Amino acid sequence: MKAVVIHQTGGPEVLQYQALLPPEPGPTDLIVRNQAIGVNYIDTYQRSGQYPLALPIVIGLEAAGEVIAVGEDVKAFTTGDRVAYGNHIGAYAEETRVPEDKAIPLPNGLEPRLAAAALLQGMTAHYLVNSTYPLTAGQVCLVHAAAGGVGLLLTQMASRIGARVIATVSTNEKAELARRAGADEVILYNETDFAAATLDLTGGAGVNVVYDSVGKTTFEGSLQVLQPRGYLVLFGQSSGPVGPIDPLRLSEKSLFLTRPSLFNYVDTREQLLWRAGAVFEAIQHQQLQLRIERTLKLKEAAQAHRLLQSRTTTGKLLLIP
Ligand code: NDP
Repeated sequence: MKAVVIHQTGGPEVLQYQALLPPEPGPTDLIVRNQAIGVNYIDTYQRSGQYPLALPIVIGLEAAGEVIAVGEDVKAFTTGDRVAYGNHIGAYAEETRVPEDKAIPLPNGLEPRLAAAALLQGMTAHYLVNSTYPLTAGQVCLVHAAAGGVGLLLTQMASRIGARVIATVSTNEKAELARRAGADEVILYNETDFAAATLDLTGGAGVNVVYDSVGKTTFEGSLQVLQPRGYLVLFGQSSGPVGPIDPLRLSEKSLFLTRPSLFNYVDTREQLLWRAGAVFEAIQHQQLQLRIERTLKLKEAAQAHRLLQSRTTTGKLLLIP
């Protein structure tokens, strides 16, 4: 079976498409034949070494496909079942060994491509608006990179809750997508000072919460636009890591700063099934629109990483084995 392996960290060129022995299930594992694999920004951090891993390793956290073998103690799944997973490493492969407690049954009628496009980024948007900072109708939030994979889903969920969504993006085309996803106002943050514009839009009051996945280039402005006791939810670093910060910086407005990770919000079976179920149901009821930007072959994983990091993509990139 073929997989994308990294033997050393570095640029997209370290992603090697090669033959590996097919995985065998442990007692509580499934072997999943992946039909669609989700590409996520975290994959680029793992590839570059920003998030260190023991090497060599098959990267990728998200896929959907068919169960082709099960371990002897597996109770809840059988061969032929359709499943997805979004928090288990090893997805850039034709076949992946997945612990049964990480597998999510696919609802009838939900295509693997849609499941792989939605799961990780959808569960992320879900925990950000429901659990990290439970957003309510009438509140104001700022969403950075609102036309990205997480960004488009987060904007839709925040808008459905009834919050006012101020979005930032880098191009007019992305601004249109953010608006269609429900953003009330969109700021081109590479042309305009987004902090000044956000304060302007809110009559100087600022926002309740900033969902910031961009990091280095937005962090200071994100602090500036918060209301007293506001929340800075720093959940990514697409522009680079934020440097050290003195906690005293938060005292001027009694701000909250959190750096959440999906893995802590799906760390029980109950939490995982809740979030995945909510995302899948929203897709099936067309309350959440997915935008699949491009579908590439598994062996083109390096190209997918170049595209994602080039800042030209909107929505989701998929790899197909
Ligand atoms: P995106 O599709 O959002 O791609 C990244 C976007 O970031 C770009 O499209 C771009 O949008 C923006 N960006 C701003 N500055 C830069 C830069 N210097 N280089 C590249 N991109 C830049 O990716 P994902 O949806 O996969 O992930 C979004 C972020 O969320 C990532 O940082 C990821 O790590 C994080 N994340 C965190 C999770 C968590 O639980 N903590 C879980 C999932 C994702 P624009 O052109 O509009 O500026």
